Amino acid sequence: GAPLLLHMYIYRQRAPASLPNFVLLGPSAAGKTALLTTLETGQPRDTHPTQAVHKATLTLPQDYTPFSARYRSVNDPSAVKGRQAYLTDTPGHGKLRSAATATMASAANLRGLVFVVDAAALASPAALSQAAEFLHDVLLALQRRYTSAKTSRGPKACPVLVAANKSDLFTALPAQLVRAQLEAEITKVRSARAKGILDVGVGEDADAAAPDAEWLGDGGEGKFEFRQMEEVNVVVDVVAGSVTGEEGPGVGAWWEWIAGQM
Ligand code: GDP
Repeated sequence: GAPLLLHMYIYRQRAPASLPNFVLLGPSAAGKTALLTTLETGQPRDTHPTQAVHKATLTLPQDYTPFSARYRSVNDPSAVKGRQAYLTDTPGHGKLRSAATATMASAANLRGLVFVVDAAALASPAALSQAAEFLHDVLLALQRRYTSAKTSRGPKACPVLVAANKSDLFTALPAQLVRAQLEAEITKVRSARAKGILDVGVGEDADAAAPDAEWLGDGGEGKFEFRQMEEVNVVVDVVAGSVTGEEGPGVGAWWEWIAGQM
């Protein structure tokens, strides 16, 4: 009847303000735009390099259960409410990296970051160091968010999905190797930044350069591991998938991860 329709109308108008928000980051050409389009519409479209921030509304497919609805019956109509989320795309070009971290810092109801890497490109030292520097900066921003929190309880946890994309390509590194390579490379970035050798920010991205005197993860000089981020409420998962290509594993494992944070 009318009251129900009115209720639905009001609900639809209000719902977006509080939707869980995921932010999409990563080096350019990793597949962010293709992934965003696929999660939004179910299929990749031809993509072009993005300069502007784009926010898509995702609806979790029926095959996945939001963590918050895990005890609910599938037939419960209220389960529908919890199936939507925002995914905010950010420009991946080096000089716009500070814009990306700013998007992350200002996102309302932030539930997680999706950091996309090209798992085939990571075999190249240049691509690996580019990805590792970016990820280092993103993790440092999350660490800073935690350590500078005003309340004693700190900010909510912010899990990170490292989406090892393009796993349909036979040259793609498997997820475990993507993890190991990134950890090893971030170890190098971390000590280079500490010594002031690697000031990527200068000129190109001055905003991001300033706070780089900080040390990511444990105080020690040893190896960086994603596990160290758990100290600051950041759990990092590296999960393989693919956006395009019939042979690839697809986006299912990433939907699973997203559902787990909703
Ligand atoms: P962005 O710069 O991170 O937004 O990257 P795009 O979404 O523009 O993708 C860059 C290129 O990678 C495009 O040519 C995509 O078609 C291609 N691409 C994206 N995902 C995959 C994938 O899973 N497998 C393969 N083989 N190519 C992909």
